Amino acid sequence: MAGNRYVYDFDEPSSGGKELLGGKGAGLAEMTQLGVPVPAGFTITTDACRAFMAAHDIPDGLEEEVAEHIARLEERSGKRFGDVNDPLLVSVRSGAAVSMPGMMDSILNLGLNDQAVAGLARSTGNDRFAYDSYRRLLQMFGEVVDGIDGHRFERRLSDVKQGKGVQQDSDLEADDLRALVDAFKTIYEDETGRGFPQDPREQLTRAVRAVFESWDNPRAQVYRRAHEIPDDLGTAVNVVQMVFGNKGESSGTGVCFTRDPSTGEQGHYGEFLANAQGEDVVAGIRTPQPVETMKDQLPEAFEQLLETMVRLERHYRDMQDIEFTVEDGKLFLLQTRSAKRTAAAALKAAVSMTDEGLITREEAVARIDPGALDQLLHPMIDPSAQLEVAAKGLNASPGAACGRIVLDADSAEERAKAGENVILVRWETTPDDIHGMIAAQGILTVHGGMTSHAAVVARGMGKPCVAGADGVSIDTDAGTVTLGGRKLDEGDTITIDGGTGRVFVGAVELVPPQINEDFETVLGWADDFRRLKVRANVDTPEDAAKAREFGAQGIGLCRTEHMFFGEDRLPVVQEMIMADDEQGRRAALERLLPMQQSDFEGIFEAMAGLPVTIRLLDPPLHEFLPDESQARDDKMRQRIRALREANPMLGTRGCRLGLMFPEIYEMQVRAIVRGARAVQERNGEAPLVEIMHPLVGFEEELRRLRELTVRVAEEEAPGLPYLCGTMIELPRACVRADEIAEHADFFSFGTNDLTQTALGFSRDDAEGKFLTYYLEHDVLDRNPFETLDLAGVGELMQLAVERGRSVKADLKLGICGEHGGEAKSVAFCHDLGLDYVSCSPYRVPLARLAAAQAALAESGAAQYVTAGG
Ligand code: PEP
Ligand code: MG
Repeated sequence: MAGNRYVYDFDEPSSGGKELLGGKGAGLAEMTQLGVPVPAGFTITTDACRAFMAAHDIPDGLEEEVAEHIARLEERSGKRFGDVNDPLLVSVRSGAAVSMPGMMDSILNLGLNDQAVAGLARSTGNDRFAYDSYRRLLQMFGEVVDGIDGHRFERRLSDVKQGKGVQQDSDLEADDLRALVDAFKTIYEDETGRGFPQDPREQLTRAVRAVFESWDNPRAQVYRRAHEIPDDLGTAVNVVQMVFGNKGESSGTGVCFTRDPSTGEQGHYGEFLANAQGEDVVAGIRTPQPVETMKDQLPEAFEQLLETMVRLERHYRDMQDIEFTVEDGKLFLLQTRSAKRTAAAALKAAVSMTDEGLITREEAVARIDPGALDQLLHPMIDPSAQLEVAAKGLNASPGAACGRIVLDADSAEERAKAGENVILVRWETTPDDIHGMIAAQGILTVHGGMTSHAAVVARGMGKPCVAGADGVSIDTDAGTVTLGGRKLDEGDTITIDGGTGRVFVGAVELVPPQINEDFETVLGWADDFRRLKVRANVDTPEDAAKAREFGAQGIGLCRTEHMFFGEDRLPVVQEMIMADDEQGRRAALERLLPMQQSDFEGIFEAMAGLPVTIRLLDPPLHEFLPDESQARDDKMRQRIRALREANPMLGTRGCRLGLMFPEIYEMQVRAIVRGARAVQERNGEAPLVEIMHPLVGFEEELRRLRELTVRVAEEEAPGLPYLCGTMIELPRACVRADEIAEHADFFSFGTNDLTQTALGFSRDDAEGKFLTYYLEHDVLDRNPFETLDLAGVGELMQLAVERGRSVKADLKLGICGEHGGEAKSVAFCHDLGLDYVSCSPYRVPLARLAAAQAALAESGAAQYVTAGG
């Protein structure tokens, strides 16, 4: 491939950035060009990796190019690769554009062989060091390039230590290590059928090939899929002159952070291990010391490290995670990258860096991962605690909770009333379990996915939930739960962590939510940048108050079906459904009216001065009747049968119900406007009421329902300001949005139903069944119930926006499906020009941040970047 260049020295500008050099390579080049002490070396580009993947072989010309760069390295270091007296040694490390665990591990000390090791011993006057370096190469090369099981080497090392009666590798002497080298060579030969390659160039070529091949190993593929990293990026390979931390007590190796990665506090956080090579720190064989211990042992190197940390943070304008080595008192940086951090640390660092003038407010806002904010709104398990995980499921709703196991909703309610903390453990939950879910501290289900009933409802309530937990089974008759092989009784205590999906036996210590000044500061800045308003989906005054605390600017969806449940209401609702005629229904509804009115008043008061969208009854009537087997009498049984539907999602629900039984919607409108008037009289200000009709698909449906709404509102509360609008949750409504807009003051996209109806997926039947299959087999790359299907549902929304606004330029537009609280979907809603998004209260902060990031991205002021890349 003439003209294609595959290799760059660290001091050569490439202009290809991370995409070409990988994160590690770009960092090493940038540090070199900054004058930070970095060992010399070069990077083989991701282009070379892509060429390797295409041809399944080392691309033409690459070996020659590598040879030229080795020659440069030889010139610069005054040592020769393969020299038997004073050899040049290198490390080979992979480095993709985004940091990616699962890729090939490093190989150190490459270039050693049976003769060079003796030369290294002579030239350094340090036999111990030379043989220690060689045994490390044999093991790393054997494991990484030839796939030998590392345990074989580890076992032999332990045997030698045991034989000598020592604990630490560093207690082994030169002769022990010499013997270990022989033993490792035998293992290598035994496993591969040939001797360890003595030619350093062969070692290098095979190591480079192994890095390229590791790009496609299963661990790396799984990681990429989970993090949506494209398969065709490829990895770069870094070849770096070795510096040695294992040369004695004035050498060592360490890692450090420029700020505390769990709190974001300023200071030096890191670990150092004297007389050790890189892998020892990570391997946990010896316990590293706090990096401060360098101050006494290696004061000059420590001083230089502190200066370099400040310099790198200034240069990158972000918190850094640094790897370094000290060789004979001299400091070398091996890597720097943007540090992975907790949400609390991300906020603290962003605020202090803004105060320090290092970054702008826009950058501070753009830097926080909206999805991570959830961590801060709920109690958490101490991230540093060492715990035994009994079972694992999906992290369905964040936060940790601990309580006694209960197996049904009624017991959950009873025990909670008696003051106990309980965790509701179910195969899966249904709307019948709602009272138990409200009473429980958390929910654990064996079945179900991220948008199963348990997950959606728990998220809405801000309650921890682990769904689809592997290794859990329930025996309701025996009142027992088997958890990772252990049998527990109802009443035994467990802890669940909905942020990670972990389940523990017993009570685990929790740390309280961390909404602090940093959180408020960054979200305050976000509010200054965003154009989209953020509302909440809430049905009770308590949740409305919570939503306001989180910064909600109104209610985008108040589902009224909850107002039909409850001990005092359900019998009346059932009476209404069972009534023989309209008159009977009206009598029952008359009794429901004051109850609903008082519910509305509570919500209006909690949201004083802000808009409140109330959706009229949506679910089919049979949801309010018991199971046929529990019918009180024959009449009820018959009614249940008559109302039964094959496809309730597409059945007699939403506005269809309102048209067939207008008295129900009339009662609701009456309760709303009476409630609004009452609050106005009490507080002097009328709430901004928006009455919303569900599941409209035809102009005529909304025309009639608007007429009903206006008539009742005029009758009950003349002059009261209110809006009348519709949900857009059917494809037909999107297509005919211009006609429907004639009768609507606002549209609110119900993307839960719009996704179901546009895709023809019934959510309850998709998750855990064919949708899981689709995701696992890459038919789809995302769950469309979590992230909007932009190409399908998104286009329908766009059509509805254009057609709706073509007849009414000031048509108010919002979204109230689950997607309103998901960052990518929020960005899409911004681009569509909606007025607001509405989501569950606990997602309001996320939506505020995501909306700000969308606005910043649009104006080019700052783009969200993930840490650690
Ligand atoms: C929707 O369909 O998106 C919606 C908000 O309504 P529900 O989830 O109550 O059907
Ligand atoms: Mg809906």
